[in-house]
Amino acid sequence: MKVYKFGGASINTIDRIKNVAAIINADKKEKLLVIISAMGKTTNALEAVVNAFFEGKKEEALQLFEQVKDTHLNTLKYLTTLQWQPATEQLKDFFTEIEWLLHDKPVRNYDYYYDQVVCCGELFSTAIVAWHLKENGMDVAWIDVRDIVRTDNNFRDAGVDWAFTQKAIQQQIKPLFDKHDVVLTQGFIGATDDNESTTLGREGSDYSGAIFANLLPAESVTIWKDVESVMNADPKKFPEAVNMHHLSYTEVIEMAYYGAQVIHPKTIKPLQNKGIPLYVKSFIDPALQGTVISNDHVKNLPPIIVVKEKQVLMQFRSKDFSFVEDKPVDDLHHILREIKVKPNLSQNTAISLLCCFDEHAEKTDQLALAASEIFDVEVERNLTLLTIRHYDEDTITRLTQDKVIVLKQKTPTTVQVLMR
Ligand code: ASP
Ligand code: MG
Repeated sequence: MKVYKFGGASINTIDRIKNVAAIINADKKEKLLVIISAMGKTTNALEAVVNAFFEGKKEEALQLFEQVKDTHLNTLKYLTTLQWQPATEQLKDFFTEIEWLLHDKPVRNYDYYYDQVVCCGELFSTAIVAWHLKENGMDVAWIDVRDIVRTDNNFRDAGVDWAFTQKAIQQQIKPLFDKHDVVLTQGFIGATDDNESTTLGREGSDYSGAIFANLLPAESVTIWKDVESVMNADPKKFPEAVNMHHLSYTEVIEMAYYGAQVIHPKTIKPLQNKGIPLYVKSFIDPALQGTVISNDHVKNLPPIIVVKEKQVLMQFRSKDFSFVEDKPVDDLHHILREIKVKPNLSQNTAISLLCCFDEHAEKTDQLALAASEIFDVEVERNLTLLTIRHYDEDTITRLTQDKVIVLKQKTPTTVQVLMR
């Protein structure tokens, strides 16, 4: 049994959905648990619906939702004929649920509504793909993952109840494979024990794939992407980027930690715990080699480059030029936790602390204001944080030569440079 995960880009056009169907059809004898994200930019479109709703702009929210509905109904029209009727009914049932909610006034917190609305993107996309597969004679079981993946009610970043989910997979998912080759379900979403929808954090479908793989257990997970394999840098910024066909779990965790947008950071642990290999493959050309991520130690990696733009550097200096003591540092960490910001890099000097963060307009101001009770705060915006793993001096020089270096940190494997 294998887990296949398809992201939003793999199903953002009619042809791409047909392509995904062809990949599933070619490999179905393996017994596939297929996880699919929302189509294209649907999650962003649904975020706009929730925002309007939560600001009390009901008509605008309904109007924006209407556009999401149209896109999906249109897509469905091109992908089904015989199955068009029942498929449309299923979509319309989902629509009604959301519209009901949008007609109410918001009385609970934003994150709750976010999850109730945004979760429907994956319900729509998976329903469409499942009906398209049925239309083509494939035997597929569509499952509402909210009956399987149980979470706490930490909306927008829900924590998984592994014991409940394990039982649900054993009792409800496994038996389906006696009758079906393919079980198709949603990534990114789950539900609480009160049947409220939850989400696992943006880009969380990779993590869903890992949860299923760990609990089934599956022999492997394949994440199908629009790239040939995992590369050592973003090819849009670095045309000289190269493919990396083998990586260790640890390397991928490190890359994700420094901000490489390869795989959702929570994905690796559940796979590593059971030694389940993770393949990254191209849905555009499945014959290409792709990348395998496993426990194997991989030597001779090229320099791996991660660039984070829009960084803010904050300098927290003691007000009286005294040494920075434990107490104010503790207080600062407390503020960071409260505002929910994590430094990407930090450094201590005798009388100050330097921290670099992702720029979030309101959080940056909020943090500067709160910290100014304890420290003199200086803020510099619009910086770039460069991280190079397995660096060599040539690469560092080449990537920093026309920049002003504001902060630099080096360990034997990783260098980080904050630049202006
Ligand atoms: N659809 C969700 C998102 O765009 C989850 C995912 O794609 O993994 O964040
Ligand atoms: Mg995605």
